[in-house]
Amino acid sequence: TLAVVLFTQDLRLHDNPALYAARAGADQVVPLFVTDPAIAAAGFAAPNRAAFLAGCLADLDAALRRAGGRLLVREGDTAEQTAKLAAETGAATVHVAAGVSGYARRREQRLRRALGDRLRVHEGSLTAVPPGAVHPADRDHYAVFTPYHRAWQQAPRRTPLPPPRALHTPEGLRGAPLPTATPTARSLPDPGEGAARRAWQHWHGDRYADLHDDLAADGTSHLSPYLHFGCLSANELAQLAERRGGPGAEAFVRQLVWRDFHHQVLAARPDTAHADYRPRKGGWHRDAREFEAWRDGRTGFPIVDAGMRQLAETGWMHNRARLITASFLAKSLHQDWRPGAAHFLHHLVDGDLANNQLNWQWVAGTGTDTRPNRVLNPLTQADRYDPDGAYVRRWVPELADLPGREIHRPWRSPHRPADYPDPLIAPETTGHRVRASLRPPEDTL
Ligand code: FAD
Repeated sequence: TLAVVLFTQDLRLHDNPALYAARAGADQVVPLFVTDPAIAAAGFAAPNRAAFLAGCLADLDAALRRAGGRLLVREGDTAEQTAKLAAETGAATVHVAAGVSGYARRREQRLRRALGDRLRVHEGSLTAVPPGAVHPADRDHYAVFTPYHRAWQQAPRRTPLPPPRALHTPEGLRGAPLPTATPTARSLPDPGEGAARRAWQHWHGDRYADLHDDLAADGTSHLSPYLHFGCLSANELAQLAERRGGPGAEAFVRQLVWRDFHHQVLAARPDTAHADYRPRKGGWHRDAREFEAWRDGRTGFPIVDAGMRQLAETGWMHNRARLITASFLAKSLHQDWRPGAAHFLHHLVDGDLANNQLNWQWVAGTGTDTRPNRVLNPLTQADRYDPDGAYVRRWVPELADLPGREIHRPWRSPHRPADYPDPLIAPETTGHRVRASLRPPEDTL
């Protein structure tokens, strides 16, 4: 018998339930990836992610070849192409990992219509605990992190599956060439499962608990692109970290729980990729010039500009900087989170619908934060998380000569270079910018 495995966000051989089940139930396995124009049309195939994805697919193909298989790439509508390949090969089963987005759900429904009970959808590939596996008594998902975290710690977890062997992919199947793409970032992390596993092994997270918020120390794992494309299984990674132990590992697993938390919210409420999780009172302020200054890293607030420039140059941004820059747009400039989130998605190599949109909503006060009115004052944040200004000096080099903390308040400094902009809004109001007259709703974004 023959089984098709449709790869989506699970570009790995280790702990891959769909691939493992396909091999266990058939003599021959056809691994498939479909380049779907719908993803490009939705703006999701942004250059940095497309380039990283291309590298991951090449790596996946090489790994599959070592296991006696190879990756077949087809172009077109995913459900149609998969059904066509299943018909061509006489596949008895087609395996795919369950997704959480509205797009993934529709894809599953269409695959189900085309393939009937030959389709096998595998839960628990994307997250360590599958969405819906734990939920409060009276609803289908957790809206607050702390009780979710407690429930997550009690939830059963799968023993990681070994990579399958002897896939016996038949010869002679027609495939498209592996895709290629050029990133806008200067350099991207090495793509693929092998690189992901090496990155984990080489990362010494012992001081993670102390350092993960220190912007200049850059002490986080940088595993997010690998988790987004599934080069690493979140389930396996959580267990590897737990086995490593210590306070660093505990804090690290907590971040993986945040990832699962946002995924279970999106799975239950796919509309929150665009719609507010909690409706917000009042409109948003709209000012294209202010938005462009934020986007281009020219707000005159060095800590904000440093984050935005790190994003543009590298396709990645430190979590603390994501919080500060997003809060500046939504809470200090009072602008709608959606264009901000779209700008992040355009650049982030780890750009992820669940993590990006729901973190943005958390920051903007439309999401799951239990204190939706909190504002991260960029100056207080800068003093706390970049105390000697080393992060700003790295990303805003024209300010490099400003000593110590003076770098966070260039408007007060005699060393301020002429080409660095004035602060976009009065510095003393960044924590609580008063918008006396928000425009009426019809004029808001
Ligand atoms: P580490 O600190 O090493 O954490 C390990 C892993 O845990 C990460 O790789 C990630 O998968 C997960 N994680 C950590 N923090 C969070 C979090 N707050 N929410 C969800 N998962 C988390 N993360 C993305 O993967 N994609 C995004 O598009 C994304 N957009 C964000 C937008 C905003 C406004 C904010 C505030 C955060 C966003 N995050 C996003 C979460 C977080 O910033 C990144 O996951 C993290 O910076 C990635 O770096 P790391 O792998 O070194 O993280």
